[in-house]
Amino acid sequence: MSDSRYDRLKLIPNWKQEKLANAKIAVVGCGALGNEVLKNLALLGIGNIWVVDYDTIEIHNLTRSVLFRESDIGRHKAEVVTERVKELNPDVQVYPVIGKLELAFGRGLLREMDVVLGCLDSVGARRSLNKRCYFAGVPWIDGGISHSSGNVALFDPRVPETACYRCKMDISAWERLNESKR
Ligand SMILES: [Zn+2]
Repeated sequence: MSDSRYDRLKLIPNWKQEKLANAKIAVVGCGALGNEVLKNLALLGIGNIWVVDYDTIEIHNLTRSVLFRESDIGRHKAEVVTERVKELNPDVQVYPVIGKLELAFGRGLLREMDVVLGCLDSVGARRSLNKRCYFAGVPWIDGGISHSSGNVALFDPRVPETACYRCKMDISAWERLNESKR
């Protein structure tokens, strides 16, 4: 019997646990999708995770957020997920950032990230994250969930011939953006 937490993962061909242990990932948005993503990152043993969210937990978050408990209502999401990720896997360093990305997460720090995972709920926030990641030259993955579907897309400023988030916004995204500005 072996005693390594990651033995099952290491059975996957070409798996490099060390790479994950050294990785720096920012998760922007700690709602329903952010909870799922963070749970997975913790189980995988991602070494360094920054969690960004300005919001607090409300009772209606509990049906979709595996890391939140009823006793967490009113607390900051970023703070609670930090505790729960550390519980899931003490190997992981987690840094809570309570605030909006554009105000609370410095550009120098952003540049250090291997990838940024956007778990956001509005077009405006996605555009803002997109802009910052392109300035910093850091790839980001946009995730989104709705009632019965989801989407995921990679945007990589290191490959300039590919579209960024703003370039690929369709009519419905522009409508949602304009709607939110009213
Ligand atoms: Zn673009």
